[in-house]
Amino acid sequence: MTEIPKNHPRYESLMTREQISAGVDKGMTSRQGLLAQGRGEAFDYLIGEKTIESAEYAEAVAVALLMLAKKPVISVNGNAAALAPNDLVTLAKLTGAVLEVNLFHRTEERVKKIIEELKANGADIVLGQNAEPLLPLEHERAKVEREGIYEADVIFVPLEDGDRCKVLADMNKLVIAVDLNPLSRTAQTAHVSIVDNLKRALPKMIEMVPDFKNMTEEDLWEIVESYDNKIVLVDAIETIKENLTKKQNEVLGIEEKDNTPDPETVKKMKRKAEVARRVMMRGSDLIME
Ligand code: ATP
Repeated sequence: MTEIPKNHPRYESLMTREQISAGVDKGMTSRQGLLAQGRGEAFDYLIGEKTIESAEYAEAVAVALLMLAKKPVISVNGNAAALAPNDLVTLAKLTGAVLEVNLFHRTEERVKKIIEELKANGADIVLGQNAEPLLPLEHERAKVEREGIYEADVIFVPLEDGDRCKVLADMNKLVIAVDLNPLSRTAQTAHVSIVDNLKRALPKMIEMVPDFKNMTEEDLWEIVESYDNKIVLVDAIETIKENLTKKQNEVLGIEEKDNTPDPETVKKMKRKAEVARRVMMRGSDLIME
């Protein structure tokens, strides 16, 4: 790994590149995974390289869904394994989810390497090696394990491809995706789209678990049922638009005269903040107007 000084302004982003490239060296991540990372980085830049409030809300709903699921599965690909093997294992353990390796550019060698990496990070069982082509897809991601993804009711798919996301949703599975691009087919198809960097999303979700553990099933359902994925996607797109306008104004030397948004927007934002806050505080009286 290249030594990156901690005070480098792009430290986090450069370290992530190093992790992905180490994943390629270890034989876990495909070369195409480097490109996927690049696309993610570009969107992270536009989002502001931080977890926006609506993403945190989606993360909370995702945790509630994983806790409610009868057969939750976390699907792991080469990028996810390179970026956050430890957090994936921790989240699986805390929510009772099964880990399954599922690859677009599948080779048995890569599946084995990823399983080894997850086990080295504390996983007991990782599915993926006995996968059969059970999904109606033309590519390798059709291969899933019967006991795992095929029978799952809730699937957490960080860094998914749009085709499979749609197929899983069509099979009446609830799909939670992590994708920095709110415009991708994945983000548009998933039931819960977390528009955040996987490396930021997982620790936040892990931190939320103890709070959700104390909730009743009824309260958890209330959170899930009142969730609207459109709000989360619109908020991410809105954030990108705002960031672009801000940059454009900076380039043009236009001072932001009045930062106060119109009262209607303030009202809407307040409501979103309030909803997110209540989810976080395990409010059972969550109302999404
Ligand atoms: P789709 O098939 O859903 O339209 P795509 O073809 O745009 O997706 P892929 O190349 O299959 O995308 O996968 C890369 C996706 O993963 C991109 O949308 C990218 O934004 C996202 N991504 C990459 N790295 C990260 C990361 N670290 N955290 C979250 N999302 C990421």
